[in-house]
Amino acid sequence: MRDTLGRPLKNLRLSVTDRCNLRCEYCMPEDDYVWLPREDVLRFEETSALVDVFLGLGVDKIRLTGGEPLLRRDIPALVEMIAAKAGLKDLALTTNGILLADQIDALKSAGLRRITVSLDTLQRDRFKALTRFDQLDAVQAGIASAFRVFGRLKIDTVVIRGVNDDELAPLIEYGRTVNAEVRFIEYMDVGGASRWSPDRVVSRREMLDSLARYYGPIVPVEDADRAAPADRYALEDGTTFGIIASTTDPFCRDCDRSRLTADGMWYLCLYATKGVDLRAPLRRGASRDEIAAIVSAGWQGRTDRGAENRLALGDRRAFVPVQDLLRKDPHNEMHTRGG
Ligand code: SAM
Repeated sequence: MRDTLGRPLKNLRLSVTDRCNLRCEYCMPEDDYVWLPREDVLRFEETSALVDVFLGLGVDKIRLTGGEPLLRRDIPALVEMIAAKAGLKDLALTTNGILLADQIDALKSAGLRRITVSLDTLQRDRFKALTRFDQLDAVQAGIASAFRVFGRLKIDTVVIRGVNDDELAPLIEYGRTVNAEVRFIEYMDVGGASRWSPDRVVSRREMLDSLARYYGPIVPVEDADRAAPADRYALEDGTTFGIIASTTDPFCRDCDRSRLTADGMWYLCLYATKGVDLRAPLRRGASRDEIAAIVSAGWQGRTDRGAENRLALGDRRAFVPVQDLLRKDPHNEMHTRGG
């Protein structure tokens, strides 16, 4: 099934909670948040029923995210329900790593295939300043546990000028010690990034220049998966890393991903201001075919190129229309939609 730009429906990001145990300044910087009403949050059986609909329509990759997905009680049980489904080629989880060490064995036995841990700095004071919590040790313990149990992982780093742009090489070096490919993400002006400004974005070009000054020649690595957001590169010794240039060179043209929030709202773009309510039909008792018809119609009518539209704006600041809306509707937040 393809959208209006010929993009297939393949990749589903499943946000299992809007709660988080960090307050990263680029994602959840405010003091107060409006949370999704608890009664709206889908039970695992409900999420699983919606996942069946998506798998039936061509989705073959699912990533659990949040908020912090490991805050959702008994998340391995959901992993187990999804991992066994026919048609699924990949099941991954993105976490801040704080609660990972305790759950890693259960996640692996439940059938999780891949882990990505978000880590922006290796400096304890910086970590605390950036996230408001002194949890760097816990994150690193989580990363060590992922290395032990999965043998490899990815580390996602949002690069912000004047905050952590001097840590690109140290993060790659750290990644080597735990068999992690590091992916540097350009700072995005998504909902929640209320402190975003263009001068804080470190572009892919700047990152490559800075790494080349340190390591010498860097060569691009061809990736078979065109829809993967990261451009991959190799250092002379073969170490690879990725850059996700969502701000200066968005990948909208190949974007095959959509997002389901913990309360069953389906978003076709990270920048979309409206979602499709799948919880209401589900709880009304709509059949699988009826919900599939809603999803098909949504995808076939998809025109979204949110990040490209933002880029075309020229004079750009934080995703302004959302600022006022944020308090009224938590769905506009990155932590509700999943990154
Ligand atoms: N709590 C989990 C975590 O920390 O990975 C999953 C949710 S988090 C919203 C997913 C990803 O979105 C993280 O890697 C985070 O760094 C990224 N993210 C959040 N705000 C961002 C922004 N303004 N620009 C770029 N990436 C952002």
